[in-house]
Amino acid sequence: MRLAKCEVDATACDFKVLVADDSRIYRKLVEHALSKRQYTVLFAKSGSEAIDLFSEHQPSVVITDWMMPDLSGIELCQHIRNDLRQTYTYIIILTGITEKDKLVKGLAAGADDYLTKPFHSDELLARVGVGRRIVELHRQLEAKNLLLEELALTDALTGLPNRRAIEEWAARQLSGAARYGFSFLVVLADLDHFKAVNDTHGHDAGDTVLKKFSEILRANSRRSDICGRIGGEEFLLILTHSTQENAMVVIERIRAELEAAKFDFGAGSLTATASFGLAGFEGTQAPDFSRLVSQADAALYAAKRTGRNRIEVAVTHVL
Ligand code: GH3
Ligand code: MG
Ligand code: MG
Repeated sequence: MRLAKCEVDATACDFKVLVADDSRIYRKLVEHALSKRQYTVLFAKSGSEAIDLFSEHQPSVVITDWMMPDLSGIELCQHIRNDLRQTYTYIIILTGITEKDKLVKGLAAGADDYLTKPFHSDELLARVGVGRRIVELHRQLEAKNLLLEELALTDALTGLPNRRAIEEWAARQLSGAARYGFSFLVVLADLDHFKAVNDTHGHDAGDTVLKKFSEILRANSRRSDICGRIGGEEFLLILTHSTQENAMVVIERIRAELEAAKFDFGAGSLTATASFGLAGFEGTQAPDFSRLVSQADAALYAAKRTGRNRIEVAVTHVL
């Protein structure tokens, strides 16, 4: 049941409170106390109804009675704490029981606070306010953790996945490739004479080329593949479910797009090229990812040795 009208304070209305009590009178009293805020309040007359409303609405605060006909407040606490899907829920037990050892049990079962009946309406409101602060802190922490995780896996200059992100992704995909029998191709790319680009045009010009190459890589890789920057001017592209011929078409397109790109700077313009090494695997015994990268690296080295701005395929790989 939705009670609050959410016209005034939209953030308050995102804030859901679930009240579980088999006593109609206490549901009314809590409703009255909470009506001073624009919260969305849901009411359950039993434990099982509370569980259903909880999983449907994922409320931020749960105010629960201690004894209900089908489920105790403690069991409801345990159920909520075992629900791993959701972000933190602040639980207040509202009970006629005043014996301390029982209340201690409630807190041990996962409740955050308790209030004894009959309760003071402003006190309930204040304690829900404490819950709101705690839940908001939890949400901010979760959002920051998510951001940190993302930053730890992203290359700051190009916004591409970094070496760690690629290695994590590759380890998962490689075992999938071995189990389900799809191909796994590794392309190592390295910009040619890049030191000279920096030396002649400056570091900022070098950065611009790195970003442009990243855009080209991104534009030419499927959502199901991954491309990233693994070091200074070295990049990795991994293609799955692809034949060597198709991979060669993609790499050739990337190579040609970079070669055709013109970089204009105040002092003049420049062009850039890259060399590529390809190695792959298809079969039931997946090699270590690092082994595939070494094979691609050997092919890349051959591409450098034989003139740069070209693609070489590893001789040792299994395809
Ligand atoms: P090769 O064709 O054999 O690969 O020659 P190279 O000059 O590209 O290779 P080398 O390894 O000698 O030089 C790599 C250069 O990449 C040197 C370094 O200054 C530059 N570099 C590495 N990271 C960055 C970066 O983040 N920004 C810029 N602008 N340059 C970078
Ligand atoms: Mg280079
Ligand atoms: Mg290099």
